[in-house]
Amino acid sequence: MIRMNSHYKKLKASYLFSDIAKRVSTFQENNPDTPIIRLGIGDVTHGLPEACIKALHNAVDEMAEDKSFKGYGPEQGYAFLREAIAENDFKSRGCAIEADEIFVSDGAKCDTGNFQELFATDIRVAIPDPVYPVYLDTNIMAGRTGEFLDGRYQGLVYLDSTAENGFVPPVPEQAVDLIYLCYPNNPTGATASRAQLQEWVDYARKNKALILFDAAYEAFITDPEIPHSIYEIPGAREVAVEFRSFSKTAGFTGTRCAFTVVPKDCMIYDEKGEAHALHALWNRRHCTKFNGVAYPIQKAAAAVYSPEGQAQVKALITGYLENATIIRSAMKELGFDCVGGDNSPYIWINGKSDSWEFFDRLLKAGVVCTPGAGFGRCGEGFIRISAFNSKVNVVEAMERIRKTLA
Ligand code: PLP
Repeated sequence: MIRMNSHYKKLKASYLFSDIAKRVSTFQENNPDTPIIRLGIGDVTHGLPEACIKALHNAVDEMAEDKSFKGYGPEQGYAFLREAIAENDFKSRGCAIEADEIFVSDGAKCDTGNFQELFATDIRVAIPDPVYPVYLDTNIMAGRTGEFLDGRYQGLVYLDSTAENGFVPPVPEQAVDLIYLCYPNNPTGATASRAQLQEWVDYARKNKALILFDAAYEAFITDPEIPHSIYEIPGAREVAVEFRSFSKTAGFTGTRCAFTVVPKDCMIYDEKGEAHALHALWNRRHCTKFNGVAYPIQKAAAAVYSPEGQAQVKALITGYLENATIIRSAMKELGFDCVGGDNSPYIWINGKSDSWEFFDRLLKAGVVCTPGAGFGRCGEGFIRISAFNSKVNVVEAMERIRKTLA
């Protein structure tokens, strides 16, 4: 008899997006003349930068000829892309990251989800609340949690992100082994300062812990004081892995390309306390289970770093950030406290009511957001509005919300 991994039974079915879809379709049936404006799901809406499209076309043509055809490539990614990443994303910011510490992949979702495979089942894990659900669910699947009681899984250390701590949790009093951090944050849009990240790095060094730092929204940082990478923090090379993605940076959500940085200084310990290089372990895992990102996609990703690519990506990000400013100002004018939207595409709004109640009020205006309660217990009372849409739609959405809430 084939038996299931019983930890899967502990997973909460994610009704969030299906509940949203149901409410939206009921609204649409009752209001067929009101076009819906979707500011809920965190997917980009604009086409790929021209430089990426050009590189993609050229690479596809190369694949047609025997002499330039590419079969299996290096699992970790082609040198042209790894070198461009190391140079432009890290060395140019003073971070000592080498090309061979970069693992190119088909998504930060897979990488943030898969990385926990390297760790023992009984490690102590700290997870933010609210959270990008992948970190939580993959640890549940791996058996690192107990039962779900009172809105929380037993056995985890939750890092509450609240208005009181500016949505950046302090280091816990107890020792933990694995810490998930995400800045700029999904869903709150909050960013962490250099001093706050330094506290986390110092804590991790003291406890021989590891930080998994998700920087999928790094490209939205405009404030020069905010670090773009955890490796801008002294000591981070010893205790942090960083995840990046071309999804939100360059509109690659449907194209799929991301990367994970595993510095050679990071150590992991066996049952005897002997240290092993995390880089070697991840390399082993990556090469065993992954056969590399398609050559044309890696060429398209490398084009992001060309001068034209940089200008086009900047224009895309600026456009989304302008939308975020419009949303933030409108919600503030209406008297709601907000965080995010300045260095991030997400605005986290205190709706002063139940998350779903506020969702329904906005839906009356034909605008779809995401109820914060779907991201964890601390998300109750909040909604997330995303800036991923056209400016015309965002302006129209805010106008409708003003009228409905006035
Ligand atoms: N990390 C965070 C925090 C995200 O919000 C997302 C996507 O929404 C991802 C990772 C996934 O990125 P990718 O498209 O590279 O899988």
